[in-house]
Amino acid sequence: MSGAGGTGTSGTSGTSGTGCVGHECGTRRAGGRPAGRATGGHRLCAGCHRRLAEDIRRLPGLYRDCERVLGGASAKGLRERTSGGPLPGLPFNAAAAEARAAIMTVLGSWSGLVAQERRLRPPERGITALSVFLLRHTDWLAAHPAAAEATREVARLVVRADRVAHPDQSRRIGLGGCVVPGCAGLLSATVPGGAAGGHPAVNCDADPQHSWAGHQWTQLRRLMPRAATRAGAGAPGENPAQGAVAERWLAATDIARLWDTPVGTVYRLASEQRWRRQHRSGRTFYSEADAHDCFSRRAQRSRQG
Ligand SMILES: [Zn+2]
Ligand SMILES: [Zn+2]
Repeated sequence: MSGAGGTGTSGTSGTSGTGCVGHECGTRRAGGRPAGRATGGHRLCAGCHRRLAEDIRRLPGLYRDCERVLGGASAKGLRERTSGGPLPGLPFNAAAAEARAAIMTVLGSWSGLVAQERRLRPPERGITALSVFLLRHTDWLAAHPAAAEATREVARLVVRADRVAHPDQSRRIGLGGCVVPGCAGLLSATVPGGAAGGHPAVNCDADPQHSWAGHQWTQLRRLMPRAATRAGAGAPGENPAQGAVAERWLAATDIARLWDTPVGTVYRLASEQRWRRQHRSGRTFYSEADAHDCFSRRAQRSRQG
């Protein structure tokens, strides 16, 4: 929980002092989307508050799931895919061990803060005891100056552990603001997991009616800049041509799933065509626009024969 304490109030939108500092609202704000308002003396909106508790509640289960992957027992399909290959399962095992250690460290450090500041006896350093203890104090944490850090750290931990523990599961990729006029929702693509195959679908988090099949992705995307401009301009209907579209960044594995292409090919194309890229916490993300142009050209060429 580096920097916890003084940094929790950054990022309020300026319209009021009660903007939610939660991780999810911060992400929305960064994308020019409306964020929630903090309620009841907390620094978090009801949604981020609930999410924090849900995430803390999920961690013991994820911790155990990571343990199973660590033992190599039940990662679905792992054995088949890796049999005959060098060092079966090793990358998963290392990632699982690290995710488990991170869960313990994060829950331990936030429990330590609660215990110290509330003058309580710290819980045992066991995964269930730590989670139960923190859940009991989530309300207090939601009003603490470090609330922003807490939501961010816990949310990232859940994503990371989930990915390690359930490598074959489908996952979601954030795409940006919904293209339906007046909708404040965020679109994400749900892509099926590695062994399962299948095609992605795009859904809005605000309205279940706003959903598209994955193959409509290209059409959909053409509408997205307008949606982004509308939100960025703040005044609906004005200056529809003005305003920069927020660039979207995708991991190579996400691009591979969205365009149904081997990851190796994605890396090769990115390198050959010099896609714009960003490095964040040790991972590389590519410009979605560059990837999209590339795959559109390829699709066009293959249609022309
Ligand atoms: Zn919030
Ligand atoms: Zn929508």
